[in-house]
Amino acid sequence: MNGHFSAVGDQPANGNYDHGCQVIDEEKEFNRNLNDYLQTMHVTEAGFNYHLISVFGSQSTGKSTLLNHLFGTTFSVMSETERRQTTKGIWLSKNKRETSAGTKMADNILVMDVEGTDGRERGEDQDFERKSALFALATSEVLLVNIWEHQVGLYQGANMGLLKTVFEVNLQLFQKDKKRAPVGPHVLTVDRSSTPRSLLFFVIRDHIGNTPLSALQNTLIQDLQKIWSSISKPEGLEQSRIEDYFDFGFAALPHKILQGDKFESEVAQLGARFTTGHRVAKGGDDGVAETEGGILLPEYHRRIPADGLSVYAEGVWDQIVNNKDLDLPTQQELLAQFRCDEISREVLVAFDQQLTPLEEKQTQASKLGKAVVLPDLGSIASEAREKCFKAFEVQASRYHKGVYSRKKQELESKVDGRLKALYQGQIAAAHKAGVAAFSEAVANKVKAGQKAGGGYEFAEIVSNEKKKNVDIFKAEVDSLAIEGVEWTNFVSQTQLFEAELDEVSSKLRKDEIRRLATRVERWVKSRLGDAVGLEFNKLGSGRGGSGAPEEGEKPATEKDLWDRIWNVFTSVVSEAEGRFSDRAKSFDASDAEVEVGLWRLRRKSWTALREKIEEEVMEGNILMKLRENFEDKFRYDEAGVPRIWRPTDDIEGIYTRARESTLALIPLLAKFKLLSSQSPPDLVGFIGPQPSGVEAGDEEDLAPIGGVDEEEGKSLEEELTMLSENKRQDLVVRFKKTADGVYVEAKRSAIGGMTQ
Ligand code: GDP
Ligand code: MG
Repeated sequence: MNGHFSAVGDQPANGNYDHGCQVIDEEKEFNRNLNDYLQTMHVTEAGFNYHLISVFGSQSTGKSTLLNHLFGTTFSVMSETERRQTTKGIWLSKNKRETSAGTKMADNILVMDVEGTDGRERGEDQDFERKSALFALATSEVLLVNIWEHQVGLYQGANMGLLKTVFEVNLQLFQKDKKRAPVGPHVLTVDRSSTPRSLLFFVIRDHIGNTPLSALQNTLIQDLQKIWSSISKPEGLEQSRIEDYFDFGFAALPHKILQGDKFESEVAQLGARFTTGHRVAKGGDDGVAETEGGILLPEYHRRIPADGLSVYAEGVWDQIVNNKDLDLPTQQELLAQFRCDEISREVLVAFDQQLTPLEEKQTQASKLGKAVVLPDLGSIASEAREKCFKAFEVQASRYHKGVYSRKKQELESKVDGRLKALYQGQIAAAHKAGVAAFSEAVANKVKAGQKAGGGYEFAEIVSNEKKKNVDIFKAEVDSLAIEGVEWTNFVSQTQLFEAELDEVSSKLRKDEIRRLATRVERWVKSRLGDAVGLEFNKLGSGRGGSGAPEEGEKPATEKDLWDRIWNVFTSVVSEAEGRFSDRAKSFDASDAEVEVGLWRLRRKSWTALREKIEEEVMEGNILMKLRENFEDKFRYDEAGVPRIWRPTDDIEGIYTRARESTLALIPLLAKFKLLSSQSPPDLVGFIGPQPSGVEAGDEEDLAPIGGVDEEEGKSLEEELTMLSENKRQDLVVRFKKTADGVYVEAKRSAIGGMTQ
């Protein structure tokens, strides 16, 4: 390495950008550090608010020196004493000056210092010259052309060769666009508004002052026109003019070494022109456009967002070194794809941070079969979604519109796909949790009500709990809604939820009806137990009742036993029916449900009655009753006074009457038959036909009733038979034995009484 040079073309170590950043090295390799450099310089976040300027000119004409003075950069310059090429490849540096000659310079001016291009050092290598010109044109707004004053007018001069190259590559670059333009090949004027333009800014060095700048300017423009006319133009652009593609600018600087101070102040004046400006009138005959403000017009900007600049530059360079047809529109689309994907990934990182923990929680819960409703999901998710889209829009919308909107859709469907899954899981969990909470709350309230003595309103509990849980569900649904996003509308899911609560309610109501039925049946059983027991006890008194009948009451006879039982039975059942239907209706049971309940109640009541009667007529029980009945008739006289047997009494006669009277009860007891109608009670009519609302399970616990359930193979006759023929005969035999025993005892006591 030569100690005279303040820097050589080696890539700086990462982060060391003392001399700017080498974009293209001497091996024609693109330097991937460019983006890092732009980030370090805080340019990447600038969007379109940056400017790219390149410098051209013969080797050692003081280009680097000029840039360093204009922009405070530290591009390496050749030492005063040695004449050798210094800059290798292409370097880039950010303007380090805020102001120049008291004027604020434009933001984020990036300057590219291009290697000496007259091929002196590279021999006849025109290749790099061409490539770097192409590269600078494809990226830069302003091309500074550095030229000695004494070179002006030397049409054959090295600079002119370079300009010829610049013009040719410019046509090559933009002809594609032109061919695509709807104006067609025969329209010879070039549409200014759609053609990317560049500013060729001539800086005339070592200006002595004898020739005014305007004269130099005219000479240069004439030369440029000559060059333009000499180059071969692509088909359709034969008549195009140089002004269609370029604006021109001019400045002259005094000799840096001979007029040091003046050089400094003129450079500062020049620097003050690097501010933004706009066009007032298009270039006149002299080719110089009238502008206001600085030289940086918006139309020169290549519209590559700063954060995509390095990718774009790399793509352009790649095409250039591989000698591909440089297709800038395609480059821009490729860049847009690359950058949009990159931005998409970046914005998804923040989105993931918010969403992934929630997704994990949900998956875990569902693995365990739990219904976990994630708190604040709606606000977290919609905020993350909004932020993600916004961040994408801010950065990516600067890129190619078509690509951007396609990538935006991709991102949206990715994000919304994830949210959709999450939301559906949430709705499912809210549904499940809501149904569980509802069932549990209703069950608990009912239980508490029962504990407190049954004073609760089932229908009210259900409607309160339903409202409560529907409200909670709706609040969740509302919190998930995102304005203008169709799929976040979960109205139908709310309806489903309500429908399920109704279904659960009707199941709970059925349970409640069953509970009510059980209570009422128990009540019926106990009432029947007492009442029927009482009627059978009366049998124990031979005069049809214990003690004298109450006033107004028809004296009970043994013969209307069944009438009394039937009456008490029907009145108990009808009272029970009243209780049942009142209560069932209070909790919104349907008519059909009530009807089924009553039908079941009547059947169960009959079964209970029959069981009670069977218990009463069980051998031991009924035998005791018959004996009591008999003894009552035998041992007491008509006035109810106990008999003291004397030998003269007609013991046998009294015995026979009493025995026959009691024996007559047995056939009476055997059949449930009403004295009033001389026929069995209308059991079939009483129970009634099976209601249409009977569902599976409603009949399971019902005992068959002969004559009512025809297919059971038991007749009504059998149903109403309380003592079988066998039992009757058996009972007669046993009773007679008992009666005989009593008779013998009476006989003995009569004789015994006499001997006393
Ligand atoms: P570059 O190769 O075009 O980048 O030129 P440099 O900036 O490295 O400068 C080349 C030589 O020209 C150096 O020795 C400078 O000192 C000298 N130089 C710089 N500016 C001027 C100037 O305005 N006039 C003259 N005559 N020489 C200059
Ligand atoms: Mg240089």
